[in-house]
Amino acid sequence: ATYQFAGKTILITGGAGDIGKATAHRFAANGAGVVLLDLNEAKMADVAEELKEYNVPVATFSCDVTAADDVAKAFSGAVQQLGQIHYVFNNAGYQGVFAKTDEYPEDDFQKVININVVGVFHVLKAAAQHLRDAGGGAIVNTASYAGVVSPPNMLAYGASKFAVIGMTQTAAKDLAPYGIRVNSLSPALIGPGFMWTRQTELQAAVGSQYFDANPKVVEQQMIDSVPMRRLGSLEEVANGVAFLMSEEASYITGFNLEITGG
Ligand code: NAD
Repeated sequence: ATYQFAGKTILITGGAGDIGKATAHRFAANGAGVVLLDLNEAKMADVAEELKEYNVPVATFSCDVTAADDVAKAFSGAVQQLGQIHYVFNNAGYQGVFAKTDEYPEDDFQKVININVVGVFHVLKAAAQHLRDAGGGAIVNTASYAGVVSPPNMLAYGASKFAVIGMTQTAAKDLAPYGIRVNSLSPALIGPGFMWTRQTELQAAVGSQYFDANPKVVEQQMIDSVPMRRLGSLEEVANGVAFLMSEEASYITGFNLEITGG
């Protein structure tokens, strides 16, 4: 299905990453203006360059979502440059290290929670304020299937994504009176991409009873756990974002869409 987003604007955090970039292409191809926020300025500039082919307005902001004032500045800069924002894709995230619970490092636990929970809160709050004042809109938070069934060796990441699904449910209730829908998206095994490669290598390296020590074998073990026996594509994740933002989802809020192949 192709949704029409002409004249609309989407703000995407983690806009330089795999899922953010695929979603930016999906929305720009359907006519939306795109605002990218990311820590990685070089990769973000590349994505902005690619988006030129669609002839839609594009803006980029260097932004650390863990800093509330960075987020506020990026939102006001975006409004100055592109006008009203209609959709916010709250997507920046960090996978954390892979370690068993008895060895999970304190500093990495804090880092994961800071980016995936506190950062998501900052963006959610700024989006809520902006969309409230604009008369409505839609927000999609990127959770993960790790926020539904938490995998081994990912204590912080699983916890952070359960929190994203929880924040989605509360925000959906709080913001319904303003005409703002809030949903979350839970991809499982998505590839090719940075997170897929990283997780197979790091799960192999942990040396747990759940995965082989060879990352190539881990890839197969993971794919064998999927009823559809394949990875999801970045485009299939972007399709989920497009649906949840679209008018076709006008009565859907507080929902977690699993994109998992079963
Ligand atoms: P990615 O690493 O390619 O992209 C993440 C982006 O977030 C990067 O560009 C990074 O620079 C940015 N980022 C990290 N910390 C930031 C911060 N503090 N402030 C601003 N930007 C920051 O990974 P991706 O696969 O595109 O991941 C996007 C989202 O999808 C994440 O929330 C991730 O947890 C989630 N997710 C991914 C998968 C997958 O398999 N790819 C599966 C489930 C969930």
